[in-house]
Parts: sequence; C-alpha cells; structure tokens
Amino acid sequence: MRGVAAVPSYVVMQPTTLCNLDCAYCYLPLRAADRRMPVPVAEAVAASVNPWASAGRFSVVWHGGEPLAAGREHLAALMAPFAPEVEHHVQTNATLIDDAWCDFFQEHGVRVSVSVDGPRERNDDRVTRAGRPAYDRIMRGVSVLRRRGLPFSALAVVSRPRAGLAAELYDYFLDLGCDVLGINIEETEGVNTRGNAHDQADVTAFWAELVAAWRREPRIHLREIEWSLRYAAAVLDGVADDLLPRQLDPIPTIGHDGSVTVLSPELAGFTDPRYGDFSSGNVLESPLAEILAGAERTPWVGEFLAGVEACRDTCPYFGFCGGGHAANRYFELGRFDGTETEHCRNSKIRLLEGVLEHARDHQ
Ligand code: SF4
Repeated sequence: MRGVAAVPSYVVMQPTTLCNLDCAYCYLPLRAADRRMPVPVAEAVAASVNPWASAGRFSVVWHGGEPLAAGREHLAALMAPFAPEVEHHVQTNATLIDDAWCDFFQEHGVRVSVSVDGPRERNDDRVTRAGRPAYDRIMRGVSVLRRRGLPFSALAVVSRPRAGLAAELYDYFLDLGCDVLGINIEETEGVNTRGNAHDQADVTAFWAELVAAWRREPRIHLREIEWSLRYAAAVLDGVADDLLPRQLDPIPTIGHDGSVTVLSPELAGFTDPRYGDFSSGNVLESPLAEILAGAERTPWVGEFLAGVEACRDTCPYFGFCGGGHAANRYFELGRFDGTETEHCRNSKIRLLEGVLEHARDHQ
C-alpha cells in the first residue's frame, strides 16, 4: 500500500454543520451553526461521482452536524443530482426520525446508521443543546425505524473501555436490532480535548470480552472484530501482505461550502498556521476528480504519507492497521509524520491483542 488513490470508494457530504445535540465528546467545531450546503456543491460532486458509480459500487455518506437537521426538502435537493446507482447512507443521532423520515429513507433508498452508546446509563455524554439527556429521543427514533421494519446499523462511542463493559454492550445491541455495529473508543480530536490514554490491560480485556460475546451469538456484523479475524486468518494463510488496499482510500469529505478534505473528515473546518485549512481544493472551483488526482500535493498529505512509511518501517501492526488516521496524529502529536498515538494503541494494537488473547484462552 503506497500513496493515495485517485478514485475513492465513497464520499462524505456535510449537508449542514448544525447538530441538534451537543455531545460532550463531539469533535465538530461548527455544530451550533446552521451552514447549509448549496445545491451547486452537490451537483459538482455528482459530476465526478456518477461516472465512478457506473463503474462499480459507490456510496455517499451524509454526515453532519446532524444530516437530518438539513430537512427533507433540502436533503432531497442535494441527493437529486446523483445517479440512481449511487448508494446513500446517513449517520444520524436518530432524534429527528419519524414516519415522514422513514418514508424519505424508503423513497431514496437511504441506509441508516444510528449513533447510540449503549444502554441509557452509557449515554451520559449524549445531551441536547439544553444539556438534557438525549437517550429517550434517540430511542423514539429507533423505535420508529423498528416499527417500520427498516434495517439500521449502530455506532457506539466507548469512553472508558474495560472488562465487564463489552458483554453488556453487545447484549444491548443484540436487543436493539441493528444488523451492523461499529465500536469507536473515544478519540482526542477536533474540539474534543478530553484525554484518551487508558490502562492498556483494560483496553485489551475490553476487546477480548467483545470477541467472546460476539462468538457466543454472532448475529450482528461487528466491524472491528470481523476486520481483526480476517487479518488473523490471512496471517495463518500466509496472505496477510495482500490484505491492505494497494493505495489509501482518499475518503473525501465535502464540507458545506464545497471544500474537500481527504483522509480524515475530522480535519474539515480546522486551520493551522503550518497547514492552512487542510483542504485540497473546492468542488465549486475544480472537479472533484481533478482535486483527488492532485491530493498528494497537499502539504500535510505529503507529511502524513511520510508518517505511514515510518509506521511501515517500525510497527509490527502495520499489516493490520495500514498506518492509522491522519486526524489522530495531528490532534495528538501536533503533526502528521509521527507514528504511535493513543488512538492506534486503543483501537488497533489492543484490538488485535484482545482478539489474540481470546484465541489463546479458547485453544
Ligand atoms: S498501529 Fe499505530 S504505529 Fe502501528 S501502523 Fe498503525 S498507526 Fe502506525
């Protein structure tokens, strides 16, 4: 794996910067402001995306802020320029979901992913703008999805990973009825400056317990565990070197104003005296395909690629991880060419060690 691919497998779109919640760990700098994406931005993105989608599977992920806060009419206008074969996804806090939104999801073939951190007592960080718990509102939205029989994924943030928590979480999501689950250990990034250093034995124990819970009843696609098991199987088959993609997926995030930030959505909206605004261009000025073809020339991207090579040279986990995420390096280390971060310890190194610990305990 070397360099950044010119064609992504999906794009992230920010229909509005606004979020109706104010979660304590949120990284978004502009979530209190309603800056909406104009339709010409979506038209410009679609001009590059539609040919990619006709050549193979392609997704647009509507992410915010809270994407549903843009309203159905505006979101429909933003989706309209995309070809029918483009798959649409929303990452939502679910608080606005009602029957009218479910009609919208069905009509536009939108796949829904809900952010919820587990049972009520695990959602203390998820609050409304008035600081009140958001859990009941999230559950109201989820219950409408369930009543309407719409499949959904779930994404949970875990702030303090430790033994005793993972099995409870997994059982909760089994009952919730999601078919895919992603677990994010809270990250120090964007405007979230809370620390993410943990006792590493606790983190390993968390992941090991999650594998055990999943193996007991593997009814949900559990993103992190399935990745790790695929890697472990490839190591045993002697094909681990083939697992990483040939080049990094640029994962362009299109900001509300048309700016394009590659590799890490979390960098969008920030500026730095050394790196400027992190964007590689604006779709209102140049075609997205052209911006991505030149993305490696963005100064911070070159520095990040040097960091990936440093990881390749020094880290035994590189074949699994591929060199980590740009935003974690920047927000933890202040630059892009470092290697280990708390994030990669929590979410890559201890994850793999947790899977191996589980395997050793069940030989
Ligand atoms: S685990 Fe950390 S140090 Fe190792 S390759 Fe990934 S980012 Fe680099």
